[in-house]
Amino acid sequence: MCPACKKPMLILELDGVEVDHCPACLGAWFDAGELEALLSSDENGAIASLTSAMQTAERLGKSRDRQCPRCRRKLEARRVRDADVTLDTCPRGDGLWLDHGELAALVRAFASTSGAATGFLGTLFERELRDRAEGDNS
Ligand SMILES: [Zn+2]
Ligand SMILES: [Zn+2]
Repeated sequence: MCPACKKPMLILELDGVEVDHCPACLGAWFDAGELEALLSSDENGAIASLTSAMQTAERLGKSRDRQCPRCRRKLEARRVRDADVTLDTCPRGDGLWLDHGELAALVRAFASTSGAATGFLGTLFERELRDRAEGDNS
């Protein structure tokens, strides 16, 4: 179930990684390690900088009534200042939630140090999400 709007989520597969995607609000849930796995084709250190940015992200406290789709605990909002993005993370470490556009913003923020692979991934992901959303717009 989508943490943001409580609608059922679809599973998208990208490069062998399954991502839960909400067709209603276009957010995406990544289980722990999935985002890193998706970015692992990039050899230029993007994952290291992204991971450390997420680890050092400022804790904003419990999120606006959002629950982890795995354990139902309230998600914690975290601010990644470099990317100007607020992530919602599970306090138990199940994974993280990105609202629509936040993945693209993260990828963009780290693209200067991460090279083409991550930029390509961002483009691909946005296109996938758009295709699914259009098919569902009745
Ligand atoms: Zn949603
Ligand atoms: Zn959880």
